[in-house]
Amino acid sequence: MRDPKIDKIFQVAKAEKRNFLFEHEAKMLCGLYGVPITRIEVAKTEDAAVEAAKRIGFPIVLKIVSAQVLHKSDAGGVIVGVNDEKGIREGYQRIVANIKKNVPTAVIDGILVQEMAPKGTEIIIGSTVDPTFGPTIMFGLGGIFVEILKDVSFRLAPITKEDAWEMLDEIKAKKMLEGPRGTPKADKEAIVATLLAVSKMLMECPEIKELDMNPLLVYEKGARAVDARVIL
Ligand code: ADP
Ligand code: MG
Repeated sequence: MRDPKIDKIFQVAKAEKRNFLFEHEAKMLCGLYGVPITRIEVAKTEDAAVEAAKRIGFPIVLKIVSAQVLHKSDAGGVIVGVNDEKGIREGYQRIVANIKKNVPTAVIDGILVQEMAPKGTEIIIGSTVDPTFGPTIMFGLGGIFVEILKDVSFRLAPITKEDAWEMLDEIKAKKMLEGPRGTPKADKEAIVATLLAVSKMLMECPEIKELDMNPLLVYEKGARAVDARVIL
């Protein structure tokens, strides 16, 4: 049986007549399946954002929470690398101003205050539902590798550990995971564990129509999802 906390996440979205999960909800869901996520709080006021930042610890990333803004950075809704209280207050106001200007119809539900994850190898894990075969899992490297080169691998869910290792091996740019040109290596075990966690989540949550972890930052040891989007 599924953790009641998972049911709760979907119930709240349904009660609010949303066909998607906010980033903090999507991350909580992923976290419940064992995917490593950033510390995160939703603040409804500037003061609450400052308090949250102090609890989480600097540096901080601020992001818009709005049902009308799913692609947050396009709308000026993401500020990374905030280092102090003054930065939180300015950042809060700047995001609100950007959203009012860029998406005038948007209802602002709050500002996400989250831990800023260190730089790492950017990867993307996604899912869509095939009308015939059910949920699929996609893996690729972040940035140009997926967006321009479409260098990705796919499997139908559920996947086994062997499938997950094959997915890592099937992309053309797989050498990027080995730490070329003095860049850090990526923890492949952590990627495999995340793919398996996502597979389990997809099998247990038929509510999920689309999933997009973009990016998941991978380190020499471990990984962290810094953005997650779920369409219901
Ligand atoms: P969007 O909705 O535009 O995809 P993201 O949440 O992905 O917004 O944020 C945009 C970019 O900001 C990310 O691709 C990542 O490079 C950076 N970023 C976002 N959140 C964090 C974080 N918690 N730690 C470090 N970098 C982050
Ligand atoms: Mg993103």
